[in-house]
Amino acid sequence: RGAAAPDYLKGLNEEQRDAVLTTEGPLLVLAGAGTGKTRVLTTRIAHILNSKKAWPSEILSVTFTNKAAREMKERIGALVGAGVEGMPWLGTFHSIGARLLRRHAELVGLRSDFTILDTDDQIRLIKQLLEAANIDEKRWPARQFAGMMDNWKNRGQLPTDVSMADRSAFANGRIPELYQQYQDRLKTLNATDFGDLLLLCIKLFRENPDVLAEYHRRFKYILVDEYQDSNVAQYLWLRLLAQGKPAPEANLCVVGDDDQSIYGWRGAEVDNILRFEKDFPGAKVIRLERNYRSTSNILKAASHLIANNESRLGKTLQTDVGEPGELVMVTSVWDSDEEARQVGEEIEQFQRQGDALNSMAILVRASHQMRAFEERFITLGLNYRVIGGPRFYERKEVRDALAYLRLVSNPNDDLAFERIVNTPKRGLGDSTLQILYDAARRQGTSLTTAVRTLVETEELKPKQRTTLRQLMDQFDDWAQRAQAVPPEDAVETEELAPGIVRRHTSHADLARQVLDESGYTEMWQNDKSAEAEGRLENLKELVNSMEEFDSLSGFLEHVSLVMDRDTGEADDAVSIMTLHSAKGLEFETVFLPGWEEGLFPSQRTLDESGRAGLEEERRLAYVGLTRARKRLRVSVAQNRLTHGLWQSAIPSRFLDELPAAAVEVKDTGSAYGGYGYGGRSGGGRFDTRDPFDSLYETPGWQRARAQASSRKSAGPVTIDGDLVARSVDDGRGSKYDVGERVFHLKFGYGRIEQIEGNKLTIEFEKAGRKKVLESFVQKP
Ligand code: ATP
Ligand code: MG
Repeated sequence: RGAAAPDYLKGLNEEQRDAVLTTEGPLLVLAGAGTGKTRVLTTRIAHILNSKKAWPSEILSVTFTNKAAREMKERIGALVGAGVEGMPWLGTFHSIGARLLRRHAELVGLRSDFTILDTDDQIRLIKQLLEAANIDEKRWPARQFAGMMDNWKNRGQLPTDVSMADRSAFANGRIPELYQQYQDRLKTLNATDFGDLLLLCIKLFRENPDVLAEYHRRFKYILVDEYQDSNVAQYLWLRLLAQGKPAPEANLCVVGDDDQSIYGWRGAEVDNILRFEKDFPGAKVIRLERNYRSTSNILKAASHLIANNESRLGKTLQTDVGEPGELVMVTSVWDSDEEARQVGEEIEQFQRQGDALNSMAILVRASHQMRAFEERFITLGLNYRVIGGPRFYERKEVRDALAYLRLVSNPNDDLAFERIVNTPKRGLGDSTLQILYDAARRQGTSLTTAVRTLVETEELKPKQRTTLRQLMDQFDDWAQRAQAVPPEDAVETEELAPGIVRRHTSHADLARQVLDESGYTEMWQNDKSAEAEGRLENLKELVNSMEEFDSLSGFLEHVSLVMDRDTGEADDAVSIMTLHSAKGLEFETVFLPGWEEGLFPSQRTLDESGRAGLEEERRLAYVGLTRARKRLRVSVAQNRLTHGLWQSAIPSRFLDELPAAAVEVKDTGSAYGGYGYGGRSGGGRFDTRDPFDSLYETPGWQRARAQASSRKSAGPVTIDGDLVARSVDDGRGSKYDVGERVFHLKFGYGRIEQIEGNKLTIEFEKAGRKKVLESFVQKP
């Protein structure tokens, strides 16, 4: 290292270099995706260290995720080499908050070994408090109170700071009292919750100026990545720490992109980034406009989409990648299985061309979308890793549910029995189990067989005996129902509500019943932890996936094959993760599946937060699109199984917001001519050909049909909420007769002229002659 420009500065553009070298005074780097914001931060740390402006321990660098912190550590290690001793304070707001708090725990009434409660513990604690305060938990659920507290803590509010409006929102104005009791209780338990990690730090700094002054001396440089997603508490925390010098001189550097603010639902305030210049007068603002990540087609798509948001600062973004690159491919597929098959095929093809699996990622809106991909990849033997959670079949709830089903199908499956005998809790503890094991060993039989003899003896306590007998009776009952599953072609229907008909697909229904009657579903319904909802969704997804199989044993066999061929945690693997956890990352090839209304944008977000919610969903789409370097594949399924019903999906409005010039639309053609179909008037920029015209010619359709005949058909099909088919056609011929008058949602009334399998030629009264799918037709 010498006086000449150090290596790490080479290759930076002028603005980036400016951002690295402007070490003194407040600095805001406001720039779009892939412009090198994170790179600027790491290089800046390298520069500060290299020019001996500070020791590693005098630098505080905040990232948004632990994964990002790890990556930054690696990047800094690579930049400065092994010669540098120690590491900067590098981590998420929460991890750094915890570290600070442990050092000064006694000043906020804790011991340094305090525990950090998870959501489960937190809810349990609140329940106890509500009960003690005689508050009806049915009327004022603990979960709701936990959510409110989370909000206050994210806003940096202590019990005394809670607004009047908030006070009256819960338990008739008793909020400050309850909130205070909760905080006191945490203290007694020597515990904090997640929000306290920052809130107590703020309190600590405010009440102990000497401690704060110590950190003012220590932290000579503060850096923050993804600043657009910081919340009020984080902002207050930072401001306190950055006050060592008068505001115009604070060595605080924040980088962010207002278009990538995706945590508004968790209290993030994009305003923080807009307010920076006000808080730190004289702050230098650097804009980076050159994107080093993506081809121009990808950038065009992303910029065009995000331009639909009203509340944004607006930035220019130019690619530095020479060629326009491949067009963004938008593919319309039949359903999630075809989607997974397509993605799998493409990945294998890219792999044959020499791409590493590490360079590819699938980014989903909701984690239950992962199952179809995982399953497909296991079948193909493709290595994959799920980031931010376990694989689908390794999830606790999925394993539990499978254990119940295995036991219905095979009463001698001891491993399954062990897994569920006391899940949910039935008072069958270890000592009872020991008696069962001993008996089974003595008799040389399976556990359930041993149970059947044991319940006739005095060996067990009466209570356990009764419980076990009831459990065995239940399993007998389920096994009998499994036997009585009607043959494949017996179509039973049930009127759920006027116009909504559900077809009984018996083993999937049986699975639902088993989970409900065993108390397993209820166990998760009563669980108010943050994960419970996702677990219930996964259970639904599991049951949904059964509809494809002819029998319970067929399904279980499939699962065991899939699980057996576990691909392990290989070095080279495709990443599967949610869009939220993909922030800041990049991949050569990115797949974005499930671009359908209701899924993405998510219906729940639209319902709860309206226009603001839609804009946040759009920013999430922008984050997804901008993760790709070279190749971007978006897909939309025409049918999706939700809540046991086949829904005819409407393509996401975000598809219409992609610029035609950068996009290639590929229809694997299962049903509709173009994905632009969706009943929206005027259509998009895309081909909105009559969706039924090319229905039968495409290979996609033929495949879908072959698929339909090889699996059991499922529930009815709806378009825009209207029931258009009572059951998805199973490819085995028509239930209509030539000459019959029928109703078709799109084309109205008509008379059947010809029947070929499940295709009907109909002379419509208004629309003329068309060929349509039988499943889109109703008896009038
Ligand atoms: P995001 O908003 O998605 O977090 P970012 O602005 O943090 O993106 P980086 O991840 O730092 O962007 O950089 C994007 C990619 O561009 C990285 O692969 C980085 O190494 C590369 N890059 C950044 N600056 C340059 C440069 N001057 N020359 C070449 N490559 C660069
Ligand atoms: Mg970044």
